[in-house]
Amino acid sequence: MSVRWQSGSWRRAACAAALLLSGLATGCGGRADEDDEQATRAAIAAVKVSPGWTALPDAQRRALDVLLSGQDNPWSLGAREAVRDLVEDARWSGGAAAQAALLDGLWRDARVRPRSVATLGLSRATHAPYTLRPAAPLGTVELEGVATALERHVLVVDGRTVHIDAPAGARTDTSDGTLLSPDDAARSIAGLPRGARDQLEAMVLVPFKNPRDDAYAKDLGMPGFRTFMEGRSSGKVLVFPRVRASVDPVDMLLHEVAHVWSLRDLDEEGWRAWEEAEREDGHEVSTYAATHAREDLAETAAVYVAMRARPGGAEVRAMFGARFRLLDRWTPSVD
Ligand SMILES: [Zn+2]
Repeated sequence: MSVRWQSGSWRRAACAAALLLSGLATGCGGRADEDDEQATRAAIAAVKVSPGWTALPDAQRRALDVLLSGQDNPWSLGAREAVRDLVEDARWSGGAAAQAALLDGLWRDARVRPRSVATLGLSRATHAPYTLRPAAPLGTVELEGVATALERHVLVVDGRTVHIDAPAGARTDTSDGTLLSPDDAARSIAGLPRGARDQLEAMVLVPFKNPRDDAYAKDLGMPGFRTFMEGRSSGKVLVFPRVRASVDPVDMLLHEVAHVWSLRDLDEEGWRAWEEAEREDGHEVSTYAATHAREDLAETAAVYVAMRARPGGAEVRAMFGARFRLLDRWTPSVD
C-alpha cells in the first residue's frame, strides 16, 4: 500500500495507514494520541538541553532541529517516534559524546530513513493529458542479450512523443515479477512533472530480470537486489518486472530521470561539488542513497522535485539544504 500525499498531511496519512494495517476500529486523535504527543515533546525537550545536543556541529544541530520539529514530512514523522526510544537508551546516560553519536544515528534509524524514496508515495496522483497510439510491431530485437519480439507504442504528451517499446502481446505476468503494461507505463510518464518528463526519450519494458542484478547485489552489499528501472544517458529508461508493489513507478521514474541528466550533463567538478554537499548535509534521504554518490543524487533529486510546492517542502529543504541548493543551480527548469 502506498500512502498518498493527497490523503492529507503525513501525520494524518500515517495514522490512516496504521489503522488500516492494524485493523483497529478506533480513530486517530484520541487520548492515546495526546499521550503519545506529550511523550514525544518531552523527549525532544530532553534532547535539546542535553550535553550531546550542544556538542553537535552547528549545521548538524540545525538539521536535527528541523527533523525533530517537522510536522509534514515522512522523515520527521519517523524521527518523532524514534526519539522517545533514544532518550531511554542505556547509552544516553554515557555523556556528551555518546549522546551526540546517538543523535547522529537517528538519521539511520529505519523509522526515519526509508529503504528507497520510491516507497514514500511522494508523487502527485494527477497526470498530464496524453494519448497512446496503437502499437506497431518492431520485429525481433536483441534486448539485453536476449532475442525478444517487441512492439512500439507511441505516447504523445505535451506535444512530444515518447516511445514505449514492449514485448509483443504486452504480457505483464512474468516468472520474474510483474511488468508494467504499456498503459501503466504511459500513465506513469504522464504523471511526471513536465521538466522531468522532458528528459525522457523512450521506455523499454523488459520481460525478464536485469542480467546485471547479481553484480549489483554484490557491489551494493544488498543480497537479492532487483532492478525495477535503469536510466541511461541517452534518455532511455529500461523497466524490468517489479517485485515490490510498494515501489511507486512515478517516484522511481523521478529517480531514473535524475540519472539521465546527471549521467549526461554532470562533469567531474559537478560530482565533486555533490560529494562536498553530501558531507555538509551529513545524512541521506534513504538507505539506497547511502550506497553511492550517483544514487544519492538520484534519490535526493527525486525528493527535490516531488516536494516542490508541497506542504513540508521547506522542512525537507532545511534538512538536505546543501544538496537542494546545488539542484536549484543545476535544474532551473525541472518543474
Ligand atoms: Zn539509481
